[in-house]
Formats: sequence, structure tokens, C-alpha cells
Amino acid sequence: MVLSLLKSMVTSSRSAATAEAEHTQKGQGAPRVFDFHGGIHPPEHKALSNRAPLVAAPLPHEVVLPLSQHIGAPAQPLVEIGQRVKTGELIARAQGMISAPVHASITGVVTAIEPRQIPHVSGLEDLCIVIERDGEIDEWARLEAWRDWRQQEAQDLIQRLQDAGVVGQGGAGFPSAVKARVRERHAIDTLILNAAECEPYITADDLTMRTHPEALIEGLEILASLIGPECILIGIEDNKPEAVIALEQAIRARRADKRLPPLDSRLEVVVVPTKYPSGGEKQLIKLLTDREVPSRGLPADVGVVVHNPGTVRAVQRAVCFGEPMISRVVTLTGEALQHPHNVEARLGTAIGDLLRLAAPSASGIARLVMGGPMMGFTLESDALPIIKTTNCLLASSPEAVPAPAVEQPCIRCGMCEQACPAELLPQQLYWFSKSREFDKAELYNLADCIECGACSYVCPSQIPLVQYYRFAKGEIRTAQHEARKSERARHRFEFKQARMAREEAEKEAKRQQRAQAAQKAAAARAETATAADTTSTASAAAPSAPAAATDLKAFKTARAAANIALKKAEKALKAAQDSGESSASDLAALDANVTAAKTRLASAESALKAASEASESAAPAAAGAPTANTATTGAATPAADLKALKTARAAANIAVKKAEKALKTAQDSGEGDIPALESSVTDAKARLAKAEADLKAASEASESAASAAASTSATGAAAPAADLKALKTVRAAANIAVKKAEKALKTAQDSGEGDIPALEASVTDAKARLAKAEGDLKAATDAAGAAQGTDKGPVASAAAGSAQTTDTGAAGSSAGAAAPAAAAPSADIKALKTARAAANIAVKKAEKALARASESGEGDIEDLQTLLATAQENLRAAEVRLNSAQAGSTDATLATKGAGELIPEAPKPAAGSVGRGSMASNVTLSQAEIEASRAENLAKRHKQVSIAVKAAEAAHRKAEAALSETDDENRQRLATKVDRTRRNLEHARESLAEVQALVDAQ
Ligand code: SF4
Ligand code: SF4
Repeated sequence: MVLSLLKSMVTSSRSAATAEAEHTQKGQGAPRVFDFHGGIHPPEHKALSNRAPLVAAPLPHEVVLPLSQHIGAPAQPLVEIGQRVKTGELIARAQGMISAPVHASITGVVTAIEPRQIPHVSGLEDLCIVIERDGEIDEWARLEAWRDWRQQEAQDLIQRLQDAGVVGQGGAGFPSAVKARVRERHAIDTLILNAAECEPYITADDLTMRTHPEALIEGLEILASLIGPECILIGIEDNKPEAVIALEQAIRARRADKRLPPLDSRLEVVVVPTKYPSGGEKQLIKLLTDREVPSRGLPADVGVVVHNPGTVRAVQRAVCFGEPMISRVVTLTGEALQHPHNVEARLGTAIGDLLRLAAPSASGIARLVMGGPMMGFTLESDALPIIKTTNCLLASSPEAVPAPAVEQPCIRCGMCEQACPAELLPQQLYWFSKSREFDKAELYNLADCIECGACSYVCPSQIPLVQYYRFAKGEIRTAQHEARKSERARHRFEFKQARMAREEAEKEAKRQQRAQAAQKAAAARAETATAADTTSTASAAAPSAPAAATDLKAFKTARAAANIALKKAEKALKAAQDSGESSASDLAALDANVTAAKTRLASAESALKAASEASESAAPAAAGAPTANTATTGAATPAADLKALKTARAAANIAVKKAEKALKTAQDSGEGDIPALESSVTDAKARLAKAEADLKAASEASESAASAAASTSATGAAAPAADLKALKTVRAAANIAVKKAEKALKTAQDSGEGDIPALEASVTDAKARLAKAEGDLKAATDAAGAAQGTDKGPVASAAAGSAQTTDTGAAGSSAGAAAPAAAAPSADIKALKTARAAANIAVKKAEKALARASESGEGDIEDLQTLLATAQENLRAAEVRLNSAQAGSTDATLATKGAGELIPEAPKPAAGSVGRGSMASNVTLSQAEIEASRAENLAKRHKQVSIAVKAAEAAHRKAEAALSETDDENRQRLATKVDRTRRNLEHARESLAEVQALVDAQ
């Protein structure tokens, strides 16, 4: 009776649905339902299970919940063995962008978290959480129910889908929350409920629609609120008339319910002809909208989102009732079951337990398939659990399972191509898959195959085509996975290389900074030493000479060492205090160390202060000395003073360049204290200007003195040899100044940058000075020749006396010119010897550094040459001081022994000169040593600079050769190197020219 009634309902509803569909099509004047290529009409076998109502399966005694029931990353367990969980409680959280959580589907205790075989075509194991029910009560842990979900924010609704673990029930289990965000990337105008359920035997969606139509309509509304489509289409095959009626009634009721807001979107049930596989996503879209999803594309690419009825119902339950996805509708069907029907079963329930609900026949189950006969896969065991994507368990009887077909060769009949709904070439794909030509299979769009099995179904050669395609897809996936892995490994390697290069560059930058700081400190020391040396030289005529630069340096070094020692002691004490592991006695010892270091630092600072004050107080005395000196000796400013000032100017110039470079680097990188760097550039320029002014003044004084000497010679006085030498030096310096000025002018003219009129003026000025220096030298030479012709003896004596006095004073002797017999104490001599040794070491170090830089072509050759010159100058000064002190000491010793008896009478000094009587022979000897030392140093420097020029030439050639052979990647770096080596070479050549000029002058 019920059956006949149902039949009549089915018939009437089918007719009504068909009529309504036809009416709609006619009403719109165009076919509402379109068609797709291919397709087949296999026996439906749906009546087996769609006649019984949907029932809830009993609670299982145990559930096995795989952590990977969806597409994407497996969930991560949150529970422990022995932990009691309630139904709906979160037991594994999603991890990654595409993932879904897992919830307990029964109330019970976690008994295992272990790999178990899962219902998958691979037959592999996966991590599962096993829960054993601990009573009859089903205790729930629901999320908050949102019956008024329209008040919720879209983001909250999407989060609810994620929290509830809702995934697509009709396909591969794609997380619904991710699908609901499709609006962020695509414009969606159509939401489709895929109610076609075209696969034979399966009726789960049919029963869901018939049993819960209102839930489905509300679920569609929720999804529509997230996606915002213009219309919602329910695509359903015409073999489900009851479902069509139920849905239409639900829609009418919804529209009639005035308590709810009107539907935003057009909502329609669209009945489509029964044809397999109209339930394929792409095929249903084509049927309903005539849109074709592009190859390898997604429905969203054509503005469509598709959901399955089971999913939509899960959405509604999750949102409206706060129920996580813990159950689903499963069709229990097949000829091997006596009571096939649909059940709502908890996830994780054993398949065997469910099949028993359908009363397996006595003949047993010949084959058990999860899914339908077309797209399902055979299960080897009924002990496996159902998961979120299990829609059907098909138990076939031995009679229903035909004998395995014997695969025959392909006869190229083309039937598979005609049946393929994806419009592929199945026979070609078959050949490529069989011969493992996977690249060709990909080329023939194997990825678009939906594995519907239509081709296999129609193949007269009984070729299991889908099995070949699955095999090929698996191999391609593996290859792609390997390629991705190797790509990731390559990226990791490249990242590591880049990181190492960056760290190396940072280290190099720090090293450069340290080197620059050291060079700066050296330049500052050189400047201080030069200033002190100048002071020392200037004060040569003053009886109270200041502390030597070397002494000041030594005091500064001692102060710095004491400071470092104090910091170390303080650090050690702090570390011991922080660690708390040191004993009280250790701490006391460390504290005593700090106190002692502080004392040492204080005394070092006092000593330095005293030495500085002594040096400064001597300076004013020295300032007045030149007049007396000049008046006394009539000699010009010594060449050593000019040289020292030149060195100071060079050091100041280097300091300016470095400051400018540091500023430019900071400006380019945007890092560093730019105002401070600008200020340091200004300071350095001011120092350079001062050094240049000092040098200019000294040069002019020297020129004046030379002129005076020349005048004296012209009036009858003999021109001393030292005067001639000084004039030669002035001429050489003027010559170099002309060349430099000319070069600067040429560079400015070539580049078009710089103050060209000012440079032209400086060239003119330098040339005038050179002409004057040459004139003075010529006059002095002529006068000397004339004087020698008239009176050779006295001139020689006077010259000797003059030179002796001047040079002795220049040597910085502590003995005063008016107090000839003051002997240097032995302690002073010892200190001077130490200073000479230290200066000697400094020269050797500078020589080594220059040699290293010359060999490698790296480093600032000009700086190193300047440093070497300074060190050599310091050595020379130290030697002179030591010689003078030793001479004074010898005189004093001799004097105490009655030197008058031992030393023959010396020639009388010239009138107006302040000679040293009996010391004449000793002083003459020291002067000779000084001259020899100067000549030796100059020769050495000439040799070194010559070597440096050759090395710089070689380095430049090498860099140019490397640049000519390099690839694009290294071009910039090598071009910079070529530029640097070229500059080094230019500097080295300039230095050689300067040294050569000095040698010529000598
Ligand atoms: S249907 Fe079978 S026999 Fe025919 S072409 Fe396709 S693969 Fe070959
Ligand atoms: S299984 Fe693939 S190739 Fe065969 S008919 Fe279906 S879509 Fe076409």
C-alpha cells in the first residue's frame, strides 16, 4: 500500500517536476537545461536503497578516526591515550592553509593514537585516533548555536565552518571554509547544489534531500550569504522526484515565512535528464549554465561554486546548532544486503557494523566497494571505518559480480572518446599511460579526467582504462612531489649561500671599519707626532725643549693600556657577580684588581697630562725662537719642517677623503648618523685647510729665508751649503706643487667639475713660486761660487759653525745653545734608545704593510706610503735626538775628566755665531751621521716606492685582464677593482715623482 502510494507519488512528482522544468524552459524561451558531451546510461539500481527511510545508525562501540579525512594537511592530535572525550569535542586541530579539524564522534575514552589502515584507494595506513564508548549516554560538546546566524559576521560564519571541520561530502573532502572564501579571489554569480547523484546505487543525497529539505535550503542561504551569488540552482536528476517535490515545498515554505527576510538570491530547482555523469561538477555546470570550466580550471573561474547536499546540511548544523561534522549519511546497498537503506552514521564507525544493519545475505559479500560501481574502489576489509567522504557501501553478491573480464587489445573503435564527458581522447591517454609516457599524457590533459569510468564502461575490449589513468596520475604526482622537494632543496641551498655571502660581507664591512678606525687613529697619531715634531723642531733654538712626540705617544699608549686593563678587570668582576658562582674571596680579589687598575689609570692620566702641559708650555718659547735662530744663524727653515708639514697636510687630506667616503656610504645606504658624519667632514676639511695654510706659510718663510741667504751671499757673505740645499728643496717642492696644480686643473677640465678659475689661479701662483725659487737658487749658487773664489777658509768655518748650531738644535737636543756643557743623564739616553727602537719597529711594520698591499693590489697604497714616510721621519728624529744626547753625555764625561787636555783647540766660530767650543768635533760627526741617515732613508723610500709602483702596475694589469674575461655577473665588482687599482697606481707614481724630486734636490 505504502509502496504503491510512493510509486504514485514518484510518478506524479516526476511528471510535475518534468512539466515544471519544461514550463520554465518554455517560459524563458530558451532551453534551461543544456547538454554535455558524451555520457552513458548505466542501470541505476537506486531503487534498492531509496525506498527505505533514512535512519540513524546505533552508536558504535568504538570509532576509528583518521586524521586525514580531507584534502590538505592532516590534522594534529590534541588528545592523549586514556583521555575522556565528549561527542563533538575537538581531538585534532587543522594545520596549514588547507586542512580540517577532527572531532570525537562518540563519548568515550581515547584508547589508541596509531597508524591504521584507512579507506583509501591506496590501501595505506594513516594515523588514527581510536575512541571507545564508555556508556550509553551521548554527551555533547557543541559549539555555540547560532539560530539567528544572519546577525553573525561573514568572517565568523566562515570560521565556524572551519572550527566544525566541515568538508565536501561529495568529492575529495575539500574544506568548506576555504571554499567559502572564494569571493576574495573570484566574482561568483551562481551557487549550485549538486543534487544530481548520478552514480548508480547511491541514494544518500536523495534521502538527505527528502528527509531534510528545510535544512538544505537554510544551508544554501548561509553559503549564499558568504558568496553573494545572483542565483542558487539546485541541479537534480529527474530520477529523484520525491526530492524535487520536497525541495520545492521547502522553498515555497521559506518564501511564505514572513518572519524571515526575503531571499536575496533567485533560488530554483532545476531538473536535469538522467545521464551519467551529470553529477560531475563540470558537467552539471555545463548542464545548468552552459559554461565550460577551462582545462585544469575551477568552477570559480566561470563564476560558479558547487556544493553537495550532505555538505550543505553539515553547514546548516554547524552554524545553527553548533554541531561539528561527526556524522554523515551513508547508503548501504548492493545485492548482498537483504535490507539496503541509508543510515546517518557516526564517523569512524566500522563498515562491518554498518553492513550488519543492512542484513548481509547468507551467500556473503563477494565484493565490497566504497562509493558507487563507477567511481568507487574495492575494500579489502570491512573493519575499516567510514570517513567524511564515505557516501556509499556497495556490497555485491557473488551472482552480481561478473567473472573478471580479460583485457583485450584496443581496437581503436573510438567508443571511449564518444562517451568521455571531459572530451578527452581516452585511447591516447591509455597508450601514454601504458607506455609510461607521462609527459604526453599530461599534454593530452590527463589532469582533466574525472575518473568517471564512462570510457571503461563502453570499451568493448574490456580495458580498465581508469586504472591506467589512476596509475599515471599517481606517477605524475610522485614526480611533481620530487621536483618540488628538489626545488625546495635548491631554494634552501641558494638561501644558505646568500646568507653566508651576506654574513661574509658584513664581516668584511666590519673589518673595513676597524681598519679605517685604525688608519684614522694612525693618521691622528701621525698628525700629533708631526705637530709635536714641528714644535720640537721650532723649539730647537729654545733652551727648554718640550717632551718629544714619542714620549707623548708613549704616555698616551700607557693611558690606553691602563684604561683597557680597567675595563677588563671591571668586566671580570661583573661576570663573577652575575654568575653567582664565585666565592667571596674570588670576588674580593677581582675587586682589588679593579681598584689597582683604577690607580694605574689615574697615574697614567697624570703622567700624560704633565707631559702634555710641558709640551704646550714649551711651544710659546719655541714660537719666539725663529727670530733669534734666524738672527743667530741666518739659515732658512729646514727642509725637515716642510716635509713634516707636508705629511700633516697629506694626513689631513686622507682624513677628508675618508670622512667624505663614510658620509657617502651612509647617504647611499640610508644608515648611520648622517649629521654627525657631515660634521666630521666639515671638521676634516677645516683641519686640511689649516694644514695647507701652515704648509704655505712655512714654504713662504723658507723661500724668504733662502732669498735672504742669497742676498747675504751676494753682499759678500759666503752661502753655506745648507742654504743651497734648502733652496734646492724649495725649488723641488715648488716644482711638485706646479705639477699637482696642473693635474688638478686638467682633471677638472676633463670632468667639467670643480672651480676651474680657482684652479687656474693656483697653477699661475705655483708657477710664480717655482720661478722665484729657481731665481733664488741660481743667485745663491752664483754667490757661493764667487765667495769661494775670494775666501774659502773662513767661509768654510762659518758655514760649519752655522750648520752645526742649526742642526744640533733641529735634532732637539736638550742642551741649550747658550749652555753648551749640560750633559744628558744616562736615564734619558736609555729612554731615547727605547724610543729609537720603537720607531724602528714602526718603520718595519709600515714597510711590511706597504709590501703586502703592493703585492695584493688591495688597500690604500697612498695611505700606507704616508704612514711609512711618517714612521721613517719619526725614526730619523729619534736617531738625531739619541745622537745629540749621546754627544752631550760624552762631552760631560770628558769635561769631568779634564777634556781640555785631551781635545785639540777648535777653530774659532764666525763672528755672530754661538758656537760650542770644544764640542765642535763631536757635533760635526753627528751632522755627518744625520746626513747619512737622511740619504739612506731617502734611498730606501725611493726603492720602496719604486717597488710599490711596479706592484701597482701588476695589480692593475691583472684586474684589467680579469675584467675583460668576466661574465656579466661579476662585471660590476671587477670594474670597481680596476678603478681602485688604477687610482693606486696613480698615487704610487705621484709618490715616486715626489721622492725622485727630493733625490734630485739632494
Ligand atoms: S573504447 Fe576501448 S577499444 Fe575502443 S578505442 Fe577506446 S580503448 Fe580502444
Ligand atoms: S574516466 Fe576520464 S577519460 Fe574516461 S570517460 Fe571519464 S573523464 Fe573521460
